[in-house]
Amino acid sequence: MILTDARQRVVSYLRISVTDRCNLRCLYCSAQEQAFIPHPEILRYEELLEVIALARSLSIGKVRFTGGEPFARRGFPEFVAEVLARFPDLDARVTTNATLIGPHLAFLRGQGLSRLNISLDTLDPATFARVTGRDLFPQVWENIQAALDLGFRVKINAVAMKGVNDGELGAFLDLARSRPLDVRFIEFMPMGGSDWSPEAVWTAGEILEAAQKLADLAPLPRNSADQGPAQVYSIAGGQGRFGLISPLTNHFCGTCNRLRLTADGHLRTCLFSDKVYRLKGILRHPRLGAEQLRKVLLLAGARKPLGHEILEKRARGRGVCGTSMSAIGG
Ligand code: SAM
Repeated sequence: MILTDARQRVVSYLRISVTDRCNLRCLYCSAQEQAFIPHPEILRYEELLEVIALARSLSIGKVRFTGGEPFARRGFPEFVAEVLARFPDLDARVTTNATLIGPHLAFLRGQGLSRLNISLDTLDPATFARVTGRDLFPQVWENIQAALDLGFRVKINAVAMKGVNDGELGAFLDLARSRPLDVRFIEFMPMGGSDWSPEAVWTAGEILEAAQKLADLAPLPRNSADQGPAQVYSIAGGQGRFGLISPLTNHFCGTCNRLRLTADGHLRTCLFSDKVYRLKGILRHPRLGAEQLRKVLLLAGARKPLGHEILEKRARGRGVCGTSMSAIGG
């Protein structure tokens, strides 16, 4: 059976947050104090395996583990290894801030993990400390190099923020030129918990215009080369690529193929909607089983918003999601 929505978009991608806790306090994500989900409410790894098995039996072919910071949860590397072993044909990936991953890199590569998205908004250690609240740039830098040396395919994601990293475009382009990795800027979204303001938004259009003055960029066909919602450009003479993700100025709802599962078992069908489908009660119920889980997944898929409501709200200038990315799973 295939998970589709009302427009027959096939839902094939599940992002799973394994924790809402993070060791960083990024100003675009968790600048404002938030209460953490109590431990008993967090889905256990066995429960996540149950959800993945079911999702796999529908049309989900790709899973990304995220958080909070996934490596802040005990046992995460072993859990990823278990997933890779149990579902060898699943495209499993990890998103991380790369502060804690160092000791686990070789193990994960050995288990077959090959792709990492690394969030890094600045190449300047002082700005890193200002954005994240932690002075950990050297560790991140070392771990990116180690990941490349081990043969991971690495994408660096930077939230584009005026007054924060808009002076670093050249440095990021140099990084993508000199290393075999993708650098992608994502527009700053008005999520709950963030220090968002319209003045801080550095749009994809503005970034592209500035980048074209600094590098010879050629657009790659959209949705080719594993680029997800990003518009990706090759860089003349470069080893890596450059990309732009524009949820604000050029939304990609029409091709959205994803569902999100929060750490406490809420299935979300759209980043900008607070509507949730609660899976934990089903997973923990003594009699409700896989069949009920399947029904809820199919229902959530069928009711996936087409995007209009969200865009209308945004047009009225309202923050549209009450929850932070650390709680939803970025
Ligand atoms: N800790 C992991 C990491 O750093 O990649 C995974 C989760 S973190 C919440 C994922 C990412 O979501 C952030 O690094 C950032 O790229 C993105 N994000 C969070 N809040 C955002 C916002 N307000 N606008 C744009 N992107 C945001």
